[in-house]
Amino acid sequence: MSKTVVLDAGHFGKRNQSPLVSGYYESERMWMLMRYLQTFLELKGIKVICTRAKQTDDLAVTQRGKLAKGSDLFISLHSNAADDSVTDRVVVYEKLNADTRAHSLAVSLAETVSGIINTKQAYAVKTRANSAGNEYYGVMRGAASTDCPYYYILEHSFHTNRDSALFLLEDENLLALAAAEANNISSFLESDTMTLVQRYQSAANVDGWKPELDVDGDIDEKTREAMSDAQKYNSKGERVKLLQELVGTKADGIFGNLTKSAVKTYQKKEGLKADGIAGLLTWSALLA
Ligand SMILES: [Zn+2]
Repeated sequence: MSKTVVLDAGHFGKRNQSPLVSGYYESERMWMLMRYLQTFLELKGIKVICTRAKQTDDLAVTQRGKLAKGSDLFISLHSNAADDSVTDRVVVYEKLNADTRAHSLAVSLAETVSGIINTKQAYAVKTRANSAGNEYYGVMRGAASTDCPYYYILEHSFHTNRDSALFLLEDENLLALAAAEANNISSFLESDTMTLVQRYQSAANVDGWKPELDVDGDIDEKTREAMSDAQKYNSKGERVKLLQELVGTKADGIFGNLTKSAVKTYQKKEGLKADGIAGLLTWSALLA
């Protein structure tokens, strides 16, 4: 089954001009980014629906969010504005009560976009609720009213910051962002249909494990050998990311103290030796 992604270029027409870079309008640049992202996603066999047929269409926010219905993922694309010119960070809004899987895409998008724009401040992944405890943002509220499992607002740093506005004004930079975002999104959606064992096998291969594993979901001798190659403090890579997702901690691919204590907590819960090292027994429990 092919996956469907709904893309929303936040604003229409000429909206949200940068105070420091006069040629920059958030609405125009995010529309352009959306078109590039659409192209890259379609190249990967993903069906894309845009919330607007034309850049100048004015649709209500909740109406746009509701177009998430029946899709696998909804993303609203923005650049942010602050009262100062210093704030320069990527912010991803994820749904309220996001599970670790939903959270992992928010983190990987935030990390990727941050790295490409090269922002001065660290990214943030946030949720925002209104006083009634529902999604604060209209697009998120609209998407939340549908069956769409994953929806996000992706703020491509701040157009009130000169460097970021100048960066986003260049088409080639938008192309780089679109290509990387499409990679994140497609591998996320692809892994959605894989079993945990297949995801482990695929992660081990990305990490360069030899002999390469068949991504077939069978825990065979080769896979067991790989699972015995433990992830522990200071380990890095895709298997660490998967481990972090499964033990419910920030999935940044670097095994630090937080990951170690999350692994220990998991091991205790499973009646395993709580050494904070993910070897054969721990992986067997995680992938079961
Ligand atoms: Zn916006």
